[in-house]
Amino acid sequence: SKDSGKNKCSVFDLEANRHQLRRMSLEKDLRKALARSEFMVVYQPKWDSYMNVTVGLEALLRWRHPEHGIISPAEFIPIAEETGLIVPITYWMLHDVCSQNRFWHKEEIASVPVSINMSARMFEDGSLYDVVAEALTCSELEPHFLELEITESIAMHNMKETVAQLSRLRMLGVRVSLDDFGTGFSSLGNLDEIPVNTLKIDQVFIRNSKMHSKKAIISNIIAIATHLNMEVVAEGVETPEQIELLKSLGCRVMQGYYYGRPMPVHELGEWFIANTA
Ligand code: C2E
Ligand code: CA
Ligand code: CA
Ligand code: CA
Repeated sequence: SKDSGKNKCSVFDLEANRHQLRRMSLEKDLRKALARSEFMVVYQPKWDSYMNVTVGLEALLRWRHPEHGIISPAEFIPIAEETGLIVPITYWMLHDVCSQNRFWHKEEIASVPVSINMSARMFEDGSLYDVVAEALTCSELEPHFLELEITESIAMHNMKETVAQLSRLRMLGVRVSLDDFGTGFSSLGNLDEIPVNTLKIDQVFIRNSKMHSKKAIISNIIAIATHLNMEVVAEGVETPEQIELLKSLGCRVMQGYYYGRPMPVHELGEWFIANTA
């Protein structure tokens, strides 16, 4: 028994060690990924379930690693945040997404806002406003076609500074949405002070098994948004049952695998032909 205890311990160490090694090697590679053009943006539609049209897109980052293939943002975004690499990566993305969306608008392929996820780091860096303004000027994209998604925890952390930066961005015409709403629960008392256009209801409330028990929470989020003059997007919609229930609660705009998965640019031309007004 003494031996088996020892064994378990060494297996655990091995696992922890393997994890540590992968992290270190990914961090090293992440430092070169931008210069090597290994990042790609995919776009997931936001869908108006009454009109049956695409009303927006969310831009999501993918890393095409030369040896490991596509690496999920769940794995590399935390490393990018810890190392600060998320700042230049997001700045690259702002330029890329604005030019892409300007192209879709100019060619009359689609005229919808595209959102980009913002890490807390972006509000500490101090140059977010300038970079957003520059990306809009360079691309000639109208500001209301760009949206920034922030989480509750970002808005709450250093709230005064974040709200000041968001207000300037809003005055520029850029849209702001509160992502993963309902999972932070600390913000309710200050929600009216954060300048946002849209609340995105987190996937945990939408998941099938839980959805009926979460009905009261969902309908209250919708009521709060309505009272504060905000729009609502339900995330992680996968089934017709979820759509029916959300509709019955008055939720109109939805995002999830049922309507469309995140897609690379070359698939979106066809998507828009089939799915726009
Ligand atoms: P998020 O911002 O909450 O994005 C939604 C995630 O849910 C995406 O995962 C999306 O592919 C996934 N999703 C969408 N519909 C469904 C569905 O119906 N069912 C299920 N199970 N999942 C669905 P993804 O692309 O892997 O991104 C994960 C997270 O990584 C994002 O969560 C976001 O927090 C972060 N992330 C992704 N791209 C960026 C980025 O460019 N910058 C920053 N800062 N974070 C990013
Ligand atoms: Ca998001
Ligand atoms: Ca989300
Ligand atoms: Ca999330």
